[in-house]
Amino acid sequence: AHLDRIAAVDERVHAFLHVDAEGALVAARSVDARRAAGERLGPLAGVPIAVKDVVVTKGVPTTAGSRILEGWLPPYDATLVTRLREAGMVILGKTNMDEFAMGSSTEYSAYGPTNNPWDLGRIPGGSGGGSAAAVAAYQAPLAIGTDTGGSIRQPGAVTGTVGAKPTYGGASRYGLIAFSSSLDTPGPCARTVEDAALLHAVIAGHDPMDSTSIPAPIPAVVEAARQGASGDLTGVKLGVVREFAGDGAEPGVLAAFRDAVEALTKAGAEIVEISCPHFEYALPAYYLIAPSECSSNLARFDGVRFGLRAGDDGQRSLEEVMSITREAGFGPEVKRRIMLGAYALSSGYYDAYYGQAQKVRTLISRDFTAAFSQVDALISPTTPFVAFPFGSRTADPYQMYLADLYTIPTNLYGGPAISVPCGLSEGLPVGLQVMAPTMADDRMYRVAAALE
Ligand code: GLN
Repeated sequence: AHLDRIAAVDERVHAFLHVDAEGALVAARSVDARRAAGERLGPLAGVPIAVKDVVVTKGVPTTAGSRILEGWLPPYDATLVTRLREAGMVILGKTNMDEFAMGSSTEYSAYGPTNNPWDLGRIPGGSGGGSAAAVAAYQAPLAIGTDTGGSIRQPGAVTGTVGAKPTYGGASRYGLIAFSSSLDTPGPCARTVEDAALLHAVIAGHDPMDSTSIPAPIPAVVEAARQGASGDLTGVKLGVVREFAGDGAEPGVLAAFRDAVEALTKAGAEIVEISCPHFEYALPAYYLIAPSECSSNLARFDGVRFGLRAGDDGQRSLEEVMSITREAGFGPEVKRRIMLGAYALSSGYYDAYYGQAQKVRTLISRDFTAAFSQVDALISPTTPFVAFPFGSRTADPYQMYLADLYTIPTNLYGGPAISVPCGLSEGLPVGLQVMAPTMADDRMYRVAAALE
């Protein structure tokens, strides 16, 4: 049914870069066989899922939205893909995204944008716009995203779906094509909070293949989502981030957010205002740290080891071939990030830019720690504006970067955060973000579920 749905609507939505119909049917049949053999499978066995194309899948094309990886077939599965398969989930295909997960609209995909199912002339968010749109358009009940600065949550918000970023280190990065390794976190895209929690429970947990993976049990996310669904938040204290609840956001977004705060109050939560004075420096700190790490991570795309090799006529030097390959294979936003990062890391500038940004990162973490000594979780709108029309923010990179103004602080800190639909503004979805302390992912699901 989902393959039929994809065939019927993906020409208009363009959520998928690759549909693996054959692989999906084989996987579905093998679930039947495992059941018939008496294997006890988990609650998501047989459930189809779409996977963001930045996650490597053995033998299935994986491009990260870039020309430089066109035609590359990974020789292994990411840990999370192995876990999906073990759980009996059926991978439908790979979803569209901004090139190397850099962007907030999927307009930076080398393969053309994804259209928002709510209004095909508008962006579905990014970088994981394909995953969110696939879920919103009923092409897949669940999808995998990755969140470095908001790429699960912001697409969730603008497509009226749920998107959760687990605690950094709570879900393995092994087999994610690295963008910014100290920030990248894979997580679930779903239509309900409980569905997101069920998928979270499949992909999370310690992985010895990822040196930053946390060796601790997965928080009880499914139980927490079910508890929250009762709608009772008595005894829960929530902090509205003052800096993110005033001007800067569209009036319609703020109105929907305020209605949601009222609903949370009615559910029994105590709401207080919390100031996080360093959050306003999160965006500039992120745009030094993330490009710095990416300039290093993307050095591996050298025309030798993966995908595209251009200009190799047998006469040119290795360095010339590398340079021609990278010129041809990377899009403009990726080049901008590599240049920004290389500059920020260069000798003489390192302390002034990268070093300074790391200090700001510490101050932001301290804001979170101080806030969580007073409240159980923080809330804010997920993004300052609803889905915008194509082309309206591509001329000025800063306008695009603003889409993640409210999501980035959490990545710098490392805690979990979720976006849950909280109403409409001018007919377009608005998301509310719940941020919790590291490894308190269960608490985040409980609060989010109460809003449904
Ligand atoms: N939009 C942000 C960026 O372009 C976040 C991306 C992400 O989370 N992958 O870097």
